Amino acid sequence: GAERKNSQGLNLDILSQSAPLFAGLAHYQYETHRYTWSAGPLVNGQTLQGETNEVVSPFNTAQLVGKVTFADADAIEQALAGAKAAFINWRATSVEVRSNALLRLADLLEEHSAELIALCTREAGKSIQDGIDEVREAVDFCRYYAVQAKKIMQSPEQLPGPTGELNELFLQGRGVFVCISPWNFPLAIFLGQVTAALAAGNTVLAKPAEQTSLIGYRAVQLAHEAGIPTDVLQFLPGTGATVGATITADERIDGVCFTGSTDTAKLINRTLAMRDGAIIPLIAETGGQNAMVVDSTSQPEQVVKDVVASSFTSAGQRCSALRVLFLQTDIADRVIAMLQGAMDELSIGDPSLVKTDVGPVIDAAAAANLYAHIDHIKQVGKLLKQVELPTATDKGHFVTPTAVEIDSIKMLEKEHFGPILHVIRYKAANLNKVIEDINATGFGLTLGIHSRNEGHAIEIAAKANVGNVYINRNQIGAVVGVQPFGGQGLSGTGPKAGGPHYLTRFVTEKTRTNNI
Ligand code: GLU
Repeated sequence: GAERKNSQGLNLDILSQSAPLFAGLAHYQYETHRYTWSAGPLVNGQTLQGETNEVVSPFNTAQLVGKVTFADADAIEQALAGAKAAFINWRATSVEVRSNALLRLADLLEEHSAELIALCTREAGKSIQDGIDEVREAVDFCRYYAVQAKKIMQSPEQLPGPTGELNELFLQGRGVFVCISPWNFPLAIFLGQVTAALAAGNTVLAKPAEQTSLIGYRAVQLAHEAGIPTDVLQFLPGTGATVGATITADERIDGVCFTGSTDTAKLINRTLAMRDGAIIPLIAETGGQNAMVVDSTSQPEQVVKDVVASSFTSAGQRCSALRVLFLQTDIADRVIAMLQGAMDELSIGDPSLVKTDVGPVIDAAAAANLYAHIDHIKQVGKLLKQVELPTATDKGHFVTPTAVEIDSIKMLEKEHFGPILHVIRYKAANLNKVIEDINATGFGLTLGIHSRNEGHAIEIAAKANVGNVYINRNQIGAVVGVQPFGGQGLSGTGPKAGGPHYLTRFVTEKTRTNNI
């Protein structure tokens, strides 16, 4: 039958199927119930009390979301000691038991999705759609690593040997893993790191981004409810400069998994190198200077739809987001005109409304940095579009979606983590130079290609030093197990999150040669 639509063009059949979710969400919204959360260090099963910090909404700083107590030196010490002591038992726990707890966690996340989506919109300023995607991705990580761990750890690999000698290769947890996650995926990346480390047989100190401690706390509570022992998973909210610096400098840790800026990853690497004791792995997933290359065979309508999604979804606060759009000169004017029109259609504002495409950025510091860049780039480039902000955004940290034409990607010295798109025209004869320039940034995360000449697209994909290539679609929203995610160079160490090799970096290998 024909689709039923309401006056805003929303599909009513989809809305009615989602009615329980929206009813659940309403319970946690500010205007309806003024619901608030609280969080603190969750150490050996106890939530430690102390001085509290108010958490306010990035959409409207007058709205209280909750209160959080950061971990002090004592909490860190107890968590480290607890996680260290719990390791031998957890490593010896069968992978079946570890994985089953993660499968239960996936079910609990689904059960609590209304609360978790509401928390994503209120604490992180995410749109409802982003909140839904966030819970889905977290669930996917739990199930994927549960299955992967069983696949690679349930039985040792049998190796060849002389008659009578049994050679086997075992994979085992390394020890205490520190997981430090970002605010832009406060549930999915937080739990992706933690569940990988746990599935592989490590105990975990989880430090959420300081901006999104409430979500991390709920995730850890649910993990404990799912059967992860409370000493195996310890939660330490706080800043990078205090909690992050202390735990990464401690000799008792055996590995670090970090997602965030390239500069912080380097700082962690230096801290690890300066410790006495063992050399331990750092798994880092960092920033990008992601490009899309669009040639004259591409379809402009599709290009514009994918550019808007890649640059402005999540207010551009994804490390996969498109920052630099290369347009072949022959079609550039047409694509730019359509892009300007499409940007006018973006709905900017309250992330808890279904119609909102672009919500706030995370905090005042982020907004100030982005506006400083917009001011600068407008002077050296040509402004193509700066969307006007609705007045309802004046109590939050909003940044105008902006597109600016510039001459060269070399004009961008660093990643600008927000809704700012840079556009560069190129001549067909200079395509190789475009790829060289993209590679010369040193980053290597995502690359978009729009072309209907497949051989051409495959050739660009092969030459670019990046982790994830997307041809004729948008370049965000990697799906666990479908597009394992992560880059190279300044974008990270690998292995790819949500991919078949991720867990191998969380384990040690042991051979056993047996001449019975
Ligand atoms: N995996 C996310 C995506 O594909 C990006 C992760 C991040 O921003 O760290 O959009």
